[in-house]
Amino acid sequence: MNVYDSGRMADVLAPLGYVLVDAPDEADLVILNTCHIREKAAEKVYSELGRIRPYKLRREAQGDRMVVAVAGCVAQAEGEEIMRRQPLVDMVFGPQAYHRLPELLAKVHRRDGRVLDTDFPVEDKFDRLPKSMGTKGPSAFVTIQEGCDKFCTFCVVPYTRGAEFSRPVDQVMAEVEHLAQAGVREVTLLGQNVNAYHGAAPASHGRDGSWGLGQLIRRVAGIDGIDRIRYTTSHPRDMDERLITAHRDVPELMPYLHLALQSGADRVLEAMNRQHTAESYIELVERVRDARPDLALSSDFIVGFPGETDRDFEDTLSVVRQIGFAQSFSFKYSPRPGTPAADAGNQIPDNIKTERLHALQALLNKQQRDFNDQCVGKTLPVLFEKPGRHDGQIVGRSPYLQAVHVAGPASLLGTIKQIFIEQTAANSLSGRIESQSVATARDVSCSHVATNAV
Ligand code: SAH
Ligand code: SF4
Repeated sequence: MNVYDSGRMADVLAPLGYVLVDAPDEADLVILNTCHIREKAAEKVYSELGRIRPYKLRREAQGDRMVVAVAGCVAQAEGEEIMRRQPLVDMVFGPQAYHRLPELLAKVHRRDGRVLDTDFPVEDKFDRLPKSMGTKGPSAFVTIQEGCDKFCTFCVVPYTRGAEFSRPVDQVMAEVEHLAQAGVREVTLLGQNVNAYHGAAPASHGRDGSWGLGQLIRRVAGIDGIDRIRYTTSHPRDMDERLITAHRDVPELMPYLHLALQSGADRVLEAMNRQHTAESYIELVERVRDARPDLALSSDFIVGFPGETDRDFEDTLSVVRQIGFAQSFSFKYSPRPGTPAADAGNQIPDNIKTERLHALQALLNKQQRDFNDQCVGKTLPVLFEKPGRHDGQIVGRSPYLQAVHVAGPASLLGTIKQIFIEQTAANSLSGRIESQSVATARDVSCSHVATNAV
């Protein structure tokens, strides 16, 4: 979402004459768009500010001004502290203030002072942002939902991104249509809790009530030029029947689902306030796999949550073995100030967290490799997004979100081609172009990791 937000900030600033530059020494304005989800991410802000300092001082010595801004969730959570600790910072503003960026900049320049804006405004920021220019490639993000009301005990999101909010269906449609006209072929619908989406129904339906994600996806699939739809990140509690059947009925919806499990132990899940059990997660996965048998699953895990025993951790490993994930993100529990779990008495020592993380990652990495290996010898439709690192190479994504490298001309960027998969590396596949025809996602599939494969 920060990638999408950064793009929208660039869109807001474009009419003022700002363009993106590659290096800070050329910049009149530097914005650090920050993440507060774990301590490590938050700490990076201060080290990045230290890195920018010499550029700003050099500018000042030349009689110019470089405005330095901190945006995003660290700004939202620690705005005043950033201002106090870092005199070089001119502006601090949270994720709800991006549409006010021109006004904030004007204040900084006019008063030659500093501004802090971490309010949650009542107006709809999306209504006030200019049209999204999207990313340069054929794949774009579109935020459809923000914030969270679930209050998992480890998580800062409800505090930094605020209460759950869904953009109206018509607003989302207009943005995706605009992107499609600009050449975008794949959209990833974004939200901290994207499947809790309940946007105002479109005018064509009398704006009657709200639509869920399943309904929205069916409508987005009808937009000319949109061949692929993805969504992230979803909560197990919000996978309703309509969304599950969209995986069966909508060929544009890619066979990939990110569904955080966090832990395989029910007592940990309860202490996390996740509102589901390991069993109900497994049943849910079975239902989605029934709807779309070649579905690739990805997940998030936290190890070393307060009170997690060896037995609890073993339960996590055993659920992971049972389900089989094509990709995963796993983290050591990081206490976040102001969240209930941070004050729990039974914190887990770091060395145990490290041990558990290594054991879990060994298993998850093996599952990822097995999943990739099963694709060798198959033909997959790949949407080419950018040139590769080597000359004459292009890179795209399979339906299962795997990076795929092939030798091919840059003229294929933005197109979908059938690729015969020849090899796998740690995190990617490589192959050769099989045909020049446009492929659909349903043509061939990799089977998901066998449940007893590991
Ligand atoms: N809304 C999504 C998660 C968004 S946060 C969901 O509920 O599934 C992305 C991931 O960051 C989480 O799934 C979790 O695994 C991780 N995370 C969040 N807070 C964390 C913390 N305090 N320590 C470690 N990992 C954390
Ligand atoms: Fe955070 Fe996700 Fe829980 Fe919301 S549902 S509090 S975003 S982990």
